[in-house]
Amino acid sequence: MHSDIKEILISKQQIEDKAIELGNILSEAYSGKQPILLGLLKGSVMFMGDLMKSIEVPAQIEFMDVSSYHGATSSGQVKILKDLDVSVEGRHVLIVEDIVDTGFTLSKVIELLKHRGASSVEVVTLLDKPEGRVVEMKAKYVGFTIPKAFVVGYGLDYNEFYRTLPYVGILKEQVYTK
Ligand code: 5GP
Repeated sequence: MHSDIKEILISKQQIEDKAIELGNILSEAYSGKQPILLGLLKGSVMFMGDLMKSIEVPAQIEFMDVSSYHGATSSGQVKILKDLDVSVEGRHVLIVEDIVDTGFTLSKVIELLKHRGASSVEVVTLLDKPEGRVVEMKAKYVGFTIPKAFVVGYGLDYNEFYRTLPYVGILKEQVYTK
């Protein structure tokens, strides 16, 4: 275990098993369809890598990079740092996310994709922190529900580091305070 990690919350094996389980569920749900698996950068990359191996329907892999501002306005804004290169019109889009916290980012991305004419927009997230929710957002497919703690690893960062850890863990407090 990395010396900055206080506790491993979800192991590599647990995540890999869950990706296979979700892959099977999604293969059934999207049977006969050709969905777009849309990963939100950068946090979803490792989860996408596992999940796409278990998807048995012909799927297109795309990525978007967005950053959200939970500022003064209640509706807020999402800034698109890297947009999709393909049209989603008439397509079934499955957003692949690392974690849902306030729900703000996803609610905005879903709204945007629907506005662009997607036939359906659903979410598969590795982690869900329902206690952090500020706007209504329910991911249809959830890997693990976790308590309201700040986690890193498996794609998730703290100041752009720890994404490469092959498990999800909680950082030691001294990492934030040093
Ligand atoms: P939301 O818009 O739902 O509040 O936030 C979603 C984004 O916030 C995630 O994609 C992720 O980048 C970041 N985030 C939320 N909670 C955590 C966490 O516990 N750890 C890390 N590393 N990022 C988080």
